[in-house]
This record gives sequence, structure tokens and C-alpha cells, in this order.
Amino acid sequence: MHIENITVEHYRNYDSLSLQFDRQINVIIGENAQGKTNLMEAIYVLAFTKSHRTSKDKELVKWDSEYGKIKGSIFKRNRTFPLEVIFSAKGKKAKFNHIEQKRLSDYIGSLNVVMFAPEDLNLVKGSPQERRKFIDMELGQIQPVYIYHLGQYQKILKQRNALLKDLQRQKQHDRTMLHILTEQLIEHGSIVLERRLRFLHKLRDWAVPIHHGISRGLEQLAIAYEPSVDVSEDTDLETIIETYKTHYETMEDREVERGTTLVGPHRDDLTFYVNDRNVQTYGSQGQQRTTALSLKLAEIELIDQEVGEYPILLLDDVLSELDDHRQSHLLNTIQGKVQTFVTTTSVDGIHHETLEQAKLFNIHNGQ
Ligand code: ATP
Ligand code: MG
Repeated sequence: MHIENITVEHYRNYDSLSLQFDRQINVIIGENAQGKTNLMEAIYVLAFTKSHRTSKDKELVKWDSEYGKIKGSIFKRNRTFPLEVIFSAKGKKAKFNHIEQKRLSDYIGSLNVVMFAPEDLNLVKGSPQERRKFIDMELGQIQPVYIYHLGQYQKILKQRNALLKDLQRQKQHDRTMLHILTEQLIEHGSIVLERRLRFLHKLRDWAVPIHHGISRGLEQLAIAYEPSVDVSEDTDLETIIETYKTHYETMEDREVERGTTLVGPHRDDLTFYVNDRNVQTYGSQGQQRTTALSLKLAEIELIDQEVGEYPILLLDDVLSELDDHRQSHLLNTIQGKVQTFVTTTSVDGIHHETLEQAKLFNIHNGQ
């Protein structure tokens, strides 16, 4: 798939702008603070209805404006579809083919995007929460129904935690409601866990050889999902449900004592190893970056495998950070099949072959 054009209104530092994109490579050039990341973010928002760098939709609307709008035409399965996301004081609206999609899980997946930006190093270096977010976003865009179960899980988790707090403070003694919420939590949590395990399995099949290639065969990547309950990667849904049941039963008094839910997918993590060493603890900056890059490239292949079309790739400020070998490897992988957007403050750091093929956009002060 690719994005043919985009129009933004009152979005970030853009008052109004329309751009026609190249089917292959688009290079966005501009000095600091001119709107390069904002433009990448606009494409990301069109895919996910939310930003990769803020959870506050309000920040996307141009200062002192009533609303902000992003529209784009997506070409996929040999057809063109309009997409539109509008933010205002009334909330946000997302339209696919001019029709408003009330449920997020009905809209997401219309456009598949993989972004690689400097902050993706946090995927390796950062907190477990950032790794869970990676799985949730990437898995969600491949299987929108996952977003539904995750949303339900998070809602029930909040209620359950509030109830556990009440039980802890003895504002409440009856545990009937707790048992009902536990059952609902297991219903959605076990699906979330099962989908994550399957996703990880497939992602690893792509990421390991890609990583091997980027590191010229010198490094071996390993990825482990670290669940908060005792399951392995091929545990089936039935067994996951049983495992959670047993855990919540034996943990009940401790959960009441602590006033919070102690097991579940919201407590899980991922660990990356390079040549058997934990990359988070021992990896160099370059090794951490290569790990993150391999995951993103694996995601591109996985989307093609699952969705039947390649996603759009957004490279914000990262291409010139990669050494020559990594840059060529990246560009060879995507050559001709993945529509790519690259931002840079200067064309100096970018291969001349890339520049020759690319459509160039000079961004100055939101224009
Ligand atoms: P850099 O090279 O430093 O990464 P950039 O070109 O990627 O720069 P952006 O992150 O796109 O810069 O930001 C461009 C400008 O947009 C910034 O000056 C920022 O203050 C401004 N900006 C951000 N949000 C809004 C908003 N809601 N309304 C108006 N301007 C905004
Ligand atoms: Mg930027």
C-alpha cells in the first residue's frame, strides 16, 4: 500500500498544506523546528488516530485553532480510499471512505505504518511499558480485534484495581464483585496474552535473520517474552485461561493486601539478547539501535505476510544516524516495495542513489 497525498488543516505548525507523494521514496528536508516530524506524525496519526509522541490529542491541533484535520488517499488492493481524522473540543472522528468509524478497532488497520525514530531506542533501553506498547501497537494494526480485547482488558483492570483498593482499605468486604471482574479480566487477558505469544513467534522468525544480516553475521539476536504467569510460547488458549484462574485464586489475598492486580499481560515484558547477553544491560548504543531496527524491519515483513501488502515506512531522523553498511542494508530491504519517508536536516548524510530516486520536499516554517 502507499499514500498518494495528504492534506492537513490547523494541524501542529501547519495552517493548511497539501502534498502529493512519490510511490517510492520521499525525503523531507528542513532545519530544526520547521515541521518535519510533524509531517511524519500526521501520516502516523492517519493510521492510528493517535500520535507516536503524545497521548494528548489536543496538542495536535494548531495553537488557537478550533479543530485540526488530516486527510489522505491510500492506495491498496488496487483501489484508492480516502481516510480522515479530525480533532476538536468534541473529541475525535475517524472516517474511512467518508464513513465515520465509531470503533477504533474498525478504523485501525486501514493504513499500515511502521515508524522508526530516535526514541525507538527506548524499545530496548526503556521501561517494560514501552515494550508492551510496541507489541500492542504493532499487533493491533495487524489484528484490529486485538485492540478490542486490550481495550476491554484495560477497562476491567482499572475497575478491578479500584475495587482491590476498596477491599484493602476495608471500605468493602464482599468479594462477589471481585470474582466477577476476575472472570472478565481472564476472558480478555488470556486472548491478549495468546495473541502476543503468537505475534512474537512470527516476529522473531523475521527479526533474527534480519539482525544477522545487518550485523554481517557476527551477532545472534534472541527475543524472549517474559509473562507474569508460567506459560511458554506454544501454550494454547485453554491452558492460558486455566493458568490465570489458578494464579488469581492463589493470589487473591495478596492482591487484596496490596490493593492491586499482580499478574496479567499488563505486567509482562520482553527481553532481547545479542550473543546471549541482555542488550538492555550490556549492549552498546549501536547494538541497541540495530536490535530496534531489526524489529522494525521484521514488522514490515510480518505486515506483508499477514495483511498481504507492505506498510508505509517512516524514518524520522534516523537514516543519517546509521553507518553506510546499515543504511545500504535498510535501503536494499525496502527497495521498490515499501513507500518510504525520510526526514533530514541535510542531504549530506543520505546516499546519493537514494536522493536520485527520491522526491524531495523542503519544509520551512510549516510550508
Ligand atoms: P527537528 O529537526 O528539531 O526534529 P522538526 O522539523 O522535526 O525539527 P517539528 O517537531 O515538526 O520540528 O516541530 C515544528 C514546530 O511545530 C515546533 O517549533 C513546534 O513548537 C511547533 N508545534 C508543535 N505543536 C504545535 C501546535 N499544536 N501548534 C503550533 N505549532 C506547534
Ligand atoms: Mg523532528
